[in-house]
Amino acid sequence: MTPNLSTPSESQYLNCIRCGLCLSVCPSYREYLSETASPRGRVALTRKGLEGELELSPNLIEQMYGCFACMACNEACPVGIRPADLALEMRQVQEQIRPAGWKQTLFGGLIPKPGRMELATLPLRLYEMTGLRRLVHAFSLLKLMPAQIRDMEAMLPRLPQRPLRQVLPVVTPAKSENRCRVGFFLGCAQSLMFAQESAATVRVMARNGCTVVTPKETVCCGMPAAGYGRQDLVREQAQHNIALFERSNVEIIVTDCATCGSTLKEYGKLLAEDPAWTERAASFSKKVRDVSEFLASIPLEKPQGRIEGRVTYHDPCHLRRGQGVWKQPRALLKMIDGLEFVELPEADWCCGSAGSQLITHYETSLKVLSRKMDNIEGTQAEYIASGCPGCQMHLNVGIRQRGLDVKVVHPIELLDRAYNGKKDS
Ligand code: SF4
Ligand code: SF4
Repeated sequence: MTPNLSTPSESQYLNCIRCGLCLSVCPSYREYLSETASPRGRVALTRKGLEGELELSPNLIEQMYGCFACMACNEACPVGIRPADLALEMRQVQEQIRPAGWKQTLFGGLIPKPGRMELATLPLRLYEMTGLRRLVHAFSLLKLMPAQIRDMEAMLPRLPQRPLRQVLPVVTPAKSENRCRVGFFLGCAQSLMFAQESAATVRVMARNGCTVVTPKETVCCGMPAAGYGRQDLVREQAQHNIALFERSNVEIIVTDCATCGSTLKEYGKLLAEDPAWTERAASFSKKVRDVSEFLASIPLEKPQGRIEGRVTYHDPCHLRRGQGVWKQPRALLKMIDGLEFVELPEADWCCGSAGSQLITHYETSLKVLSRKMDNIEGTQAEYIASGCPGCQMHLNVGIRQRGLDVKVVHPIELLDRAYNGKKDS
């Protein structure tokens, strides 16, 4: 092995007693029924790879990329092994041995540059704005495309005319008695694709007595780079975001993206060994809250409007396991008069999105989604609420594949509509 390679420590894998408890909760194992696609198998491959018994070959690393990073195995392990974390760290090992140039371009040159991302996604907005998308659907033109392209198109929500970053004011004043000054971390996917959700988040916080500060220069939280083994880029992005919010002078930092939230909460750990950043990163992470977590901690106005219908809720892995937040979004939904909440069986099972699995592991990703969709159909809900853009996009694929009349929403959107007395449009 290359000297000076940064690798997981032995304590992260040596204690595995091979009990197999993690197998029963693993979506990739459930689909492949193969030891190498299981958490226990990934731990064994890590050990053999790092001890030199197996070559750290592309095949071995591919098993690490087959992991959905759902973290269910971390929770299940009785001796504290964290196979999900190990899979991510092994991707970092691969990047040290065989760095991929395209990752530098994508995760270093494009994703952390909001202006470039806005330009790169302009064709998608034009596709929506010019009415082309409506025509493509009206004439069933997608049927001419390969299934994977059809599914990727189905992932897209209704896109905003302009990225929310360009529309939101830096300071949104409180609309009732001012209680606190809140920083809002506007994630990339929220700004570019789910703008109406984040606009709703800001409105709901302002309505409940928060002055909301949205710095325009935030960059990607770092999760995409982390998922592809580029922890060095995550550190750069973390330092940028920490310094930015320090200048905003806010008490709390709120995000409505489960993935961003779980990453921002880890900045303290990520920069713990860097003396210049240890305290600043820890202080930043302590302030981070998911929007449902934050709203549960302040006195909240009861919405006067009603929404008639049945709603169920899918737990994003990065919210439930990554942040331990699962009661709060349910509580928000239950505040709304007229809305019947029905619990989703296996609500905390991964939906199969994991960011880019629909592109990189298409068939497995759809198999995992299929079980989620069976459960959703069983609830007969008209709304499926979830606070993660990746999950929402993936659920949209399942809904369009099955031709269901179910709307995928963020819980905050329904709350905002209830405040405004609006019915579904
Ligand atoms: S994180 Fe999820 S998909 Fe990955 S090994 Fe663990 S249980 Fe399996
Ligand atoms: S990782 Fe944990 S749960 Fe899985 S086999 Fe090893 S000891 Fe058991």
